[in-house]
Amino acid sequence: MSQTTIATRDGTTTTLTEETVEAFHQSLRGPLLSPTDEGFEEATRIWNGMIEKTPALVVRPTGTADVVAAVNFARDHGLLLSVKGGGHNIAGTALADGGLTIDMSRLRGVLVDPEERIATAQAGCLLGDLDRETQLHGLATPCGFVSETGLAGLTLGGGFGYLTRRFGWAVDNLLEVEIVTADGRVRQPSREENPDLFWAIRGAGHNFGVVTSFTYRLHEVGPTIYGGLIAWPFDRANEVLEAYRELTAEAPRELAVFLILLRAPPVPFVPEEAVGELACAMTVCYSGDPDDAEAALEPIRALDDPVMDLLGERPYVQQQSYLDATEPKGDHYYWKTEFAAELSDDLLSTARELAAENPIPDGQIVFAHIGGALNEHSDDDGAVNNRDARFAYGAAGRWAPDDPEGDAYREWVRDAWEELRPYSTGGNYINFQTVDESEERIWATYGDNFARLVEVKEKYDPENVFRVNRNIQPE
Ligand SMILES: Cc1cc2nc3c(=O)[nH]c(=O)nc-3n(C[C@H](O)[C@H](O)[C@H](O)COP(=O)(O)OP(=O)(O)OC[C@H]3O[C@@H](n4cnc5c(N)ncnc54)[C@H](O)[C@@H]3O)c2cc1C
Repeated sequence: MSQTTIATRDGTTTTLTEETVEAFHQSLRGPLLSPTDEGFEEATRIWNGMIEKTPALVVRPTGTADVVAAVNFARDHGLLLSVKGGGHNIAGTALADGGLTIDMSRLRGVLVDPEERIATAQAGCLLGDLDRETQLHGLATPCGFVSETGLAGLTLGGGFGYLTRRFGWAVDNLLEVEIVTADGRVRQPSREENPDLFWAIRGAGHNFGVVTSFTYRLHEVGPTIYGGLIAWPFDRANEVLEAYRELTAEAPRELAVFLILLRAPPVPFVPEEAVGELACAMTVCYSGDPDDAEAALEPIRALDDPVMDLLGERPYVQQQSYLDATEPKGDHYYWKTEFAAELSDDLLSTARELAAENPIPDGQIVFAHIGGALNEHSDDDGAVNNRDARFAYGAAGRWAPDDPEGDAYREWVRDAWEELRPYSTGGNYINFQTVDESEERIWATYGDNFARLVEVKEKYDPENVFRVNRNIQPE
């Protein structure tokens, strides 16, 4: 490795001599990669192909000691530093452009204690890694519904999925983490130890250090649940939307149904005649006794004549991964989202009209029903806030990197969001914020918790070493 020009925290670059880089390399057990090294491309590949960022150096830690070495090196040399979990963040915050990236992907161990009902997962885990190990014991904790999403980024921003209605945000189930803070110290924050740091990590955790492991409370789920996908032609949108509202108003907590207004994608489970047609689809997960599922689904069963009905008993891990194929890595993705407290007439008719006129072949209007357990915590139980959210909703699009309409599609999503915004609680999900969001959107996420976050940031990261994220700046 010859000398390295690398981006710094203050927006300039510095040159590291060959000896400095080599000494850093020798202090690590895992590899240190530069752009010409084998493995660099894999270590820096992220989900959203729209993001063009190349770090100068990447560390792939084999354990916490490598993370400590990397944090100390980045801090002492004033380097721009980022942390990559699963690389699924839509704004591409996993990568430090021209700087140093710590790629956690080698750390994918999960330890489950079925007696105590807890699991500890290393920070390079994808959601599927945790689900697979916990389901061995018929246990699970809430996390998202695409198995290749990173557990770390998702959890640190709050985290929701099909189990959220029963058990709250992912961070409501977090018991402890191990974290390397900006001073290079290894800490184990929990409600008892460094409670201020633990509070901040539960919703704004990308800002306070490199988390190396997460310990979650587990719940009895599955291993067989009732779920899958059901869809109707778009010309029945009015009755489908009304049924969705009725369903979500009455649904037991065991039932989570997400509504997607879209053109049916060419994936194996969509019948050929439906591909490319506008449709109203619902992804369903009933995580209680499968025998009770049909009764809970009555409002949508009454709709009859779906164009596709793939509902049935299936392993929970399959439920958590069957949408993976709809989200391939490398395409361009753009979305804008909000939280809503209710499905008003105006919100539903706006959504219907937007879906009907959506010019993006892979465009969607989405509603995720998350209301329930998360609403029962106080606003300041963790930084996550948004305790009034019952739906996450918004407009989204995907297109090929060379699609000449890309800019127009992005504009359409922005315009659609402007129309959807008036029905928001005022809050939005930090993990869904795109590359061009304003600082006001961060304040909107954290509300009254924002000022306290600034205080915790000042205490644990006064130099803002961890800034490649939706950033909470120290005062
Ligand atoms: C297809 C898809 C489906 C999704 N579904 C859901 C869903 O169902 N529910 C939901 O809640 N969210 C969902 N999300 C959003 C998801 O929560 C975010 O994209 C999240 O950032 C993914 O985490 P990651 O580790 O893959 O991210 P990365 O891009 O790797 O990292 C994102 C951020 O986390 C920080 N970070 C990563 N690892 C660490 C660490 N160990 N310590 C400190 N900071 C770290 C990074 O610095 C970066 O700022 C989805 C996203 C996609 C693309």
